Amino acid sequence: MTQVPFNKPFLTGRELEYIRQAHENMHLSGDGPFTKRCQAWLERTIGSRKALLTHSCTGALEMAAILAGIGPGDEIIMPSFTFVSTANAFVLRGGVPVFVDVREDTLNIDESKIEAAITARTRAIVVVHYAGMACEMDALRSLARRRGLMLIEDAAQALGSAYAGRPLGSFGEAATISFHETKNLISGEGGALLLNSDQLVERAEIIREKGTNRSQFFRGDVDRYTWVDIGSSFLPSDILAAFLWAQLEVAETIGAARKALWERYHEGFAEAERAGLARRPVVPREASPNAHTYFLILPDAAGRRRFIERLRRDDIYAVFHYVPLHSSPAGLKYGRAGGSMAVTEAMSERLVRLPLWIGLETQQDYVIERCRNALGG
Ligand SMILES: *Cc1c(COP(=O)(O)O)cnc(C)c1O
Repeated sequence: MTQVPFNKPFLTGRELEYIRQAHENMHLSGDGPFTKRCQAWLERTIGSRKALLTHSCTGALEMAAILAGIGPGDEIIMPSFTFVSTANAFVLRGGVPVFVDVREDTLNIDESKIEAAITARTRAIVVVHYAGMACEMDALRSLARRRGLMLIEDAAQALGSAYAGRPLGSFGEAATISFHETKNLISGEGGALLLNSDQLVERAEIIREKGTNRSQFFRGDVDRYTWVDIGSSFLPSDILAAFLWAQLEVAETIGAARKALWERYHEGFAEAERAGLARRPVVPREASPNAHTYFLILPDAAGRRRFIERLRRDDIYAVFHYVPLHSSPAGLKYGRAGGSMAVTEAMSERLVRLPLWIGLETQQDYVIERCRNALGG
């Protein structure tokens, strides 16, 4: 059998054509016609007040940290079971990540444990929709409102997902998306900041344009542009936006193909779950996930190691993540645990992600068969 990589980027076939158009437009820097098209698509699809393309989700999170007004000693509540950028963006402002444990079913932040971690220094709650599965947004929104905290969604993995019929990325005052090559819709590196509050839009445009009011100048709102705030260069070249447009315009097709792969895994492991060999992802009642990742929770760390090794012998590449942030060297230095991290610690040792990419269709039955075999023994 041929090798089955963990991920293979999907190209729609129009990327180069649009890049050529961007070239012909002679608008190679940021905020050209393709950027505007992509941003309008995001605003329409998610229902955000404003979408701003960034060079990465990491960059969008850094912008969100500035917008949240994070300064030295301010605390930000977030899960420990996430990618480093969720925390790093706030630490760069002098903020202190306060890590809260995750729910055993979705591996999303446990909303019932947040209140106990809030202190007088808490400024914001950052939620991560792990694997594109929605956090409990009703409870989180009312908690954030009641305690006067900014709610930010790290929706890096969640473009195309919804909660109670409403797109993820539309709930927080700010939300961030990734178009990294490992996500559902890609531009190699890339991201977006979504703003759902009018008050944040003007400042976000300034932060993204090196702290200048250049965006207002181009709209004719001011007669010259100047340095007005802190900021950096967060915007991507229009060449990258051209690539991204080729993906966004067929987002539904890509979503449907991924969903079919996800469903096939899910059915394929129903029996293994009944037999107690592995646990499958749980889809909460209000969640409509985007089939970002398919994962299994194995009984223990040793079982996971054996499972991954057995698949590797068949040239199938299954991987795991995340090494929890709260106990990592930088997490210990810059953040702290806001309560027990028992579920995070247990789940991070037992979770394994299976290959899920468009084109896997012809090999998926083989992958499922080898996985079942590896689970059985
Ligand atoms: C992928 C990811 C990021 C980082 O995205 P980049 O676009 O690579 O910066 C941040 N947070 C989460 C939860 C992610 O999955």
